[in-house]
Amino acid sequence: MKKTDTIITDKKIDLKNLTITKAHESMKHGEFSAVELAQAYLDVIATKNKDLNAYLEVFSDVVEQAKVADKLFAEEKSGDGAQTSFLTGIPFAVKDNILIQGHIASAASKMLEQYHAVYDATVIAQLKKVGAVFLGRTNMDEFAMGGSTENSAFGVTKNPHDLSRVAGGSSGGSAAAVASDMALAALGSDTGGSIRQPASFCGVVGLKPTYGAISRYGVMAMGSSLDQIGPFAKTVADAEIIFNAIHGQDSLDSTTISASTYSPKRIGTKKPVIGYLDYKGGAGIDPQVYRIFNESKARFEKLGYKTKLVTIPNIDYSLAAYYIVMPAEVSANMARFDGVKYGFHKDGKTGVDDYFETRAAGFGKEVRRRILLGTYVLSSGYYDAYYNHANAVRRVIAAGFDRAFDTVDVIMTPTAPSPAFKIGEKISDPIAMYLEDIFTVPANLTGLPAMSVPAGFAVSLPVGIQLTARHGDEKTLFEAGADLLGEK
Ligand code: GLN
Repeated sequence: MKKTDTIITDKKIDLKNLTITKAHESMKHGEFSAVELAQAYLDVIATKNKDLNAYLEVFSDVVEQAKVADKLFAEEKSGDGAQTSFLTGIPFAVKDNILIQGHIASAASKMLEQYHAVYDATVIAQLKKVGAVFLGRTNMDEFAMGGSTENSAFGVTKNPHDLSRVAGGSSGGSAAAVASDMALAALGSDTGGSIRQPASFCGVVGLKPTYGAISRYGVMAMGSSLDQIGPFAKTVADAEIIFNAIHGQDSLDSTTISASTYSPKRIGTKKPVIGYLDYKGGAGIDPQVYRIFNESKARFEKLGYKTKLVTIPNIDYSLAAYYIVMPAEVSANMARFDGVKYGFHKDGKTGVDDYFETRAAGFGKEVRRRILLGTYVLSSGYYDAYYNHANAVRRVIAAGFDRAFDTVDVIMTPTAPSPAFKIGEKISDPIAMYLEDIFTVPANLTGLPAMSVPAGFAVSLPVGIQLTARHGDEKTLFEAGADLLGEK
């Protein structure tokens, strides 16, 4: 083991340059303990979170959790049979829609402000098993509906690179926490871009895995055919470590798949072949984002990757299809929040009024908008015209990707059409906000894995590039992503 004196300066841990691998090596070799590492993050949180509002709650048992990790390291050292993993003692931030037993999980909604989770999500159980440390729960758009964290019932999360701008959303708190050294890694959920877009805005890596790769048991459902849990990290290698620890089949989520389900065949013999779309001079894309897109393509070419122009017919209909399928599923999934068995309750004049009062006061505006939209597209007479039609479009888009993957291994696009926008800039214009999702929703509609990798700066704002691969081919994403980020 090399001495990691770059990581500890004046007895302080250099969190800025810390990665999971480095932290693991340092803890293993006793350079710092899990408790010291957790304390270092708690110290940063104590100074930065009041400005950023990335965490809704910092847990009171962080040091206790870290002690358990330290015990594992000690037992491993003494040859007691215990084994640590890369994630032992690693401090995580967790999006507030993922259940951790005994802790509040509010989905940043008044509806669940005082709801305590009664079980662990599968991903949480997996991370607990290896001794990961949960620092707290992070802010988000209410029930994950939004792209700026402005729809949180508990205030907006600010972008660590510019406090007048959004951190993105819906997992804005998780992205901001990792970007500002308030966590070494984080978990988020992605239904239409909620991991990738905030990752792009905050300058971190964000992965939306293949649909079914990671168990959704214990994540609050938004659009069940679109939702996936995924990691935020500072490097692609770190994202890969987390993905490897939490993916796999789970009997508690029947949509999970085993790794062997897919056996993606690669075209590029040495390096993956990178496909790109023709954006016709960048119309509709911020010029800085378009520049970084072109520079990323050039970077791949310089590294010896072949690049190839591809077309995906009907991809332009992705946003329209998403904004029909997603609210339809939202309207069904939100039906359970009625104030009867748990969560917020408001009395009405009659029993039926209770429902109206509870849902009108418990849900924010955007959630109510989507319930209305979804109920409309599913109603008799409109079901065929909207919902069925959107699902047919969804299949056509998936077929378009399949054909493109006959000739390339990765498809490269911008993650978002712009860098982080100003707080308040789009919140009163839902269409402008929805347009933010134009590049990210295809991966959810098709179930393909996609990852945002920091690729440059628009002046001082980070910009991510999105890489999409075949079903089950996260490996290729990690390979190309690490090269784009310059990790190798
Ligand atoms: N911005 C998208 C939306 O509002 C994505 C949300 C998500 O992925 N949870 O639907």
